[in-house]
Amino acid sequence: MTERKRVVSGMRTTGKLHLGHYHGVLTNWIKLQHDYDCYFFAADWHALTSEYQDPAIVKESTRDIFIDWLSVGIDPEKATLFIQSEIKEHAELHLLLSMITPLPWLLRNPTYKDSQAEGQGGDNETYGFLGYPVLQAADIIIYKANLVPIGVDQLPHVELTREITRRFNHLYGDTFPVPEPILTELSKVSGLDGRKMSKSYNNAILLSDDEATLKKKVGSMVTDVQRARRNDPGDPEKCNLFPLHPLYSKAEEVDEICAACPRAEIGCVDCKKILLKNLVAGLAPVHEKQHYYRDNHKLLDEIIAAGNDRARSITRKTMLEVRKAVKLS
Ligand code: SF4
Repeated sequence: MTERKRVVSGMRTTGKLHLGHYHGVLTNWIKLQHDYDCYFFAADWHALTSEYQDPAIVKESTRDIFIDWLSVGIDPEKATLFIQSEIKEHAELHLLLSMITPLPWLLRNPTYKDSQAEGQGGDNETYGFLGYPVLQAADIIIYKANLVPIGVDQLPHVELTREITRRFNHLYGDTFPVPEPILTELSKVSGLDGRKMSKSYNNAILLSDDEATLKKKVGSMVTDVQRARRNDPGDPEKCNLFPLHPLYSKAEEVDEICAACPRAEIGCVDCKKILLKNLVAGLAPVHEKQHYYRDNHKLLDEIIAAGNDRARSITRKTMLEVRKAVKLS
């Protein structure tokens, strides 16, 4: 039997998960767990690059993220789920990789350059923020990952991981496979205001939002901005809310909206009502499982501990090889 390829991916623990995470990342993880040897981690050290002044959110989000993962169908029997900071070997490898990573490679990282250009320097002007791609490289290669699922916007990060891996192998002998990106489609789900759904824009529909909150949020969603009055024709292609319909509404409803909206035969208020009904129904099984795991602390602790143990058993082995390669005892 051929060994399954190994996949590693993480999610920063900076708040509760939203529909952007669900449809952009988690639905992909759910598929990958069936075909690959998957390692998914709560990236709490990475979260500290932005949340270091208020770290309470990081701890709180870590449990919430596990609950959300399990509730949408990530299966701890199929994938190894763990907390980054519980696996100290990531930090050791990060340190060793930081010795061999030329500074210009980090200075040209688009995320760093953008934050400088946007004048966001300030709180992000830290050694940790500049160096986070090195930690990312350690997170990935410590599991000897073959594949990294990413959106096209993250390609430069994986390229940096590949460069660091090649440099390590060149200096100390072949130790790590050079991981390949698997490109995943970017989520079409935008935030309430039409911008990217994000906690920092305060425009997200959370996986844990209850019916009353969903009602308020769907009601406030920007639709087709050209459609100022009820009698104006709309265009689902230009509507910020429409991409949610194919994800939650029945095919017939979607077809009806596509036909009626450009003829102004349906108003946005009614269209939102249809979405709300389907969103509430679609998230109901997720909410049920969230309640289950929230009420079962012990079970959640066991799942996290088992994943941490599994991850650690690999990283300990890798680090024995790494220390030998770099001539440390
Ligand atoms: S009717 Fe629906 S699809 Fe058309 S603009 Fe309004 S919310 Fe968007």
